[in-house]
Amino acid sequence: MVLPPYKIKVVEPIHLPSPAQRRRAIITAGFNTFLLRSDDVYVDLLTDSGTSAVSQEQRAAMELGDESYAGSRSFYRLETAMREVYGWQHLIPTHQGRGAEHLLSRVLVEPGQLVLSNLYFTTSRVHAELAGGVWTDVSIPEAGDPESRHPFKGNIDLGKLRDLIVREGRERIAFVRQEACLNMAGGQPFSLENLRAVRALTRELDVPFYLDATRSSENALFIAEREPGQAERSLPEILREIASLADGAVFSSKKDHFVPIGGFLATNDDAVARRARELVVVYEGFPHYGGLAGHDMEALAQGIREAADEPTVAHYVGQVRYLAGLLQEAGVPIVEPVGAHAVFLDAKRFLSHVPQEQFPAQMLAAAIYVAGGVRSMERGIVSGQHDHEPYEGLELVRLTIPRRAYSREHLDYVAETVLRVFAARREIPGLALVYEPPTLRFFQARFEPLAPLPSFEGAPVRRETPQWAPLGAEAQAGRRPARSR
Ligand SMILES: *Cc1c(COP(=O)(O)O)cnc(C)c1O
Repeated sequence: MVLPPYKIKVVEPIHLPSPAQRRRAIITAGFNTFLLRSDDVYVDLLTDSGTSAVSQEQRAAMELGDESYAGSRSFYRLETAMREVYGWQHLIPTHQGRGAEHLLSRVLVEPGQLVLSNLYFTTSRVHAELAGGVWTDVSIPEAGDPESRHPFKGNIDLGKLRDLIVREGRERIAFVRQEACLNMAGGQPFSLENLRAVRALTRELDVPFYLDATRSSENALFIAEREPGQAERSLPEILREIASLADGAVFSSKKDHFVPIGGFLATNDDAVARRARELVVVYEGFPHYGGLAGHDMEALAQGIREAADEPTVAHYVGQVRYLAGLLQEAGVPIVEPVGAHAVFLDAKRFLSHVPQEQFPAQMLAAAIYVAGGVRSMERGIVSGQHDHEPYEGLELVRLTIPRRAYSREHLDYVAETVLRVFAARREIPGLALVYEPPTLRFFQARFEPLAPLPSFEGAPVRRETPQWAPLGAEAQAGRRPARSR
């Protein structure tokens, strides 16, 4: 067990709606968990985005926010924190990650150029495409295989990367993007070895290389645990090396920087920074605040430092593993190895009788809500299919753990809820799509069930306090000595 390096000072009341209320709520929401009201949710595992608890240091720092339009002290403190932890030269704050993605795509992508990436992230891909780019996957094959236990599914396929750049020619490549703790593969890290090789190749072939460094803290922890020769290095040291291997990065700071809102573009390229600052004044705000208030920048500066705190990151990853262990030991199909920020249920195996055209992951997320007021998110054909292209990819439900927000009791309750759904799985029907917005359809699409849902009120599965011990590569987590702050 990884002990929490914090105690609770401020609480937010939550309550569990009745089964009848939950049934009404999911119908009103069109069987889309994004459209539920938070008051109708008991444990909210929709996302780790903006849902972390802030620390007392962050709250105290917020009092110091300098709301000056230009030249804000808070901007300079944020810039100092970013340079200390990551080391990039330029910082352009944005309201959140997609603001930075927008700027980077507008600066680097010419119409018809390719963006080469390990799988994709929804908003990252949309911004590249809106700028005229063509998103192209260069992930290793294991990234798309939920049953592969490859320790670094966030790696880029180096052969494929080289072939594409050589075949298409340097001028047709906008940039290479590598995402930390690759969300679409289940929160899976890249290795330092792979990152170094991508750096070398992009240097050799003269292609810009940017990280989506969101969740790089957890990626750094996985490197320390799993990569030969890295166990003795500190988390800040590994983070610093990760950052040193790319020309820059976009961050959604709503994840491992512990802020409710914020993000930024960081770069070492003076020309990219200049052009991004020209655009940020049009779309976000003056370059000294982007889309953020002074107090937001203060909370972010402190959050960046906490993201490099090993006990904090190790406890968080430990919570994710704890929930995964409870489900695994009951035979629930999940993506392995367990990733950074979430447990991903494999809906293709969980609801094997529901064909993918009937949205099994969308339905599974709705069923888990009805069964226990637990909110999760579809990461499958609804999020992944694009402009009616055929889609053969993963069909997952993401139970995402907010940082520092829930206790072990909450996680036990979540596991029990999922197990009740698992017990009734054969009675769960598929869904029909009844409304589809033109872009990012998963946010607002609406569905109707093809048959009534089961009750989920069978005897709750009784379990003793689990004795789950992590397996394989993850076992090293327990062996990594705790470091002092
Ligand atoms: C959340 C996220 C984004 C988008 O950031 P927002 O802050 O939600 O706009 C981009 N990339 C990754 C990997 C993310 O997790």
